[in-house]
Amino acid sequence: ISRLSLVVKDCPDFPRKGILFKDIMPIFKDPDLVKDTCQTLVDKISEIEKPDVIVGIEARGFLIGPIMAQQLNAKFVPIRKKGKLPRECYSVKYEKEYGFDEFDMQIDALEENDKVVIVDDLLATGGTLEAAKMLCDKSGAKVIAHSVIFELEFLNGRDKLKDTPVISLVRYN
Ligand code: IMP
Repeated sequence: ISRLSLVVKDCPDFPRKGILFKDIMPIFKDPDLVKDTCQTLVDKISEIEKPDVIVGIEARGFLIGPIMAQQLNAKFVPIRKKGKLPRECYSVKYEKEYGFDEFDMQIDALEENDKVVIVDDLLATGGTLEAAKMLCDKSGAKVIAHSVIFELEFLNGRDKLKDTPVISLVRYN
């Protein structure tokens, strides 16, 4: 897992001037690292509670979410950018580190009282995970944790996520 911070590439001024973007895609060139990363996240989730559903956020939450769901013997449900899902959806507008966006989740994706872990690659300001939780709340599901690989601690994203535990493997100050 210490390899994670070695493979990530810092990209200055992407997607906008002044933003230091962390390119995490090199992780996926190393199958063992993908396996270890997902297993470590799964182990930490299991210490909290076994979820019924992993909710993955487009796009990089789709890369690890389904693997983690399989390891946990849980369902996988996607949250997508507005207009990509074919049936009736709950929607929520949100602000992220560098702009505004809108998310959809199909209204029949979760069942009331489903225990859910929300999965993404990286926590920055927390707007994305907060919005994802709002969608799960609309379904009556219970979000038991947020799970990310990387956390930009200096942006204090956790403050937005209040009482829901946040699991992260690498934290940048
Ligand atoms: P937040 O809403 O500000 O917490 O931003 C988190 C979202 O933006 C996640 O979906 C990330 O995939 C994406 N994101 C923000 N900064 C970075 C970065 O430096 N590298 C990769 N993804 C990022």
